[in-house]
Amino acid sequence: MKVLKGKHSGFCFGVKRAINMAFEIAAERRNGVVTLGPIIHNPQMTEKLRAAGIPHIEDISGLDDLNGVSTVIIRTHGIPQKDMETLNERGIEIIDATCPFVKKAQDYARLLNENGYMVVILGDREHPEVKGILSFAGEDATVVKDPSEYPNISGRIGIIVQTTKHMDDLKALLPVAIEGAKELRVFNTICNSTDMKLKETEDLASKVDIMLVVGGRNSANTTRIANLSRSLSVPTHHIETASEIKDEWFNGFNTVGVTAGASTPDWIIDDVTNRIKDIGG
Ligand code: SF4
Repeated sequence: MKVLKGKHSGFCFGVKRAINMAFEIAAERRNGVVTLGPIIHNPQMTEKLRAAGIPHIEDISGLDDLNGVSTVIIRTHGIPQKDMETLNERGIEIIDATCPFVKKAQDYARLLNENGYMVVILGDREHPEVKGILSFAGEDATVVKDPSEYPNISGRIGIIVQTTKHMDDLKALLPVAIEGAKELRVFNTICNSTDMKLKETEDLASKVDIMLVVGGRNSANTTRIANLSRSLSVPTHHIETASEIKDEWFNGFNTVGVTAGASTPDWIIDDVTNRIKDIGG
């Protein structure tokens, strides 16, 4: 059985950077360090980091339940300004692993707000990245998941996009946004790492009989890749580890595509390709 692995599968630049920062701290100290939220949406990596002495707390209130936390690592998504202030007020050391691309989106939100634009963020309002960006965007800022939620606003409007959105989502919003705007300023803050993965998934899907998409079930990025693959009518399985693979999935198939979300470690992807090779000879 032939296995085609996506070149861009697995960790993106921002995740690699955050993981490296976390393990560097783990090598220096065994106690008193936590991440605010799981460092990435991958339970195996979260467990590995916990074993190295760095557990995570779900939110800032979790600090009250732990003794002796002196250092908090901020993950790639960033955090709202008020959480940053709380950490500073408590005298906690901050290791900021916010992805530089997310920081850019936060900076644009602040810039638009300071210059009198009403900010609209295209994204998922429950996503930590969006919550963080929103905190820089001013009181009248709003979040929309698609054009159907676009508010009835006019005047000077500024648009920021959640980094994991697709260009098609932004293109669909712009005709609606321009309607009432006297001035429309758009910052394309979409990260091309996601786009590259999606394009690669389309390419892989056209060459294989079956696709395995590897990554945490709670990873939006991995779920999106799996959904895209399914929409291309390729039998697709979203798995977290090689142990979920079933031999019968491959009956009658010759070529298997393997890809993975931005939060999937290489060792898990390698386990998956090795398991397929074991099954297929
Ligand atoms: S997907 Fe892009 S924005 Fe998000 S962490 Fe990775 S590099 Fe940064």
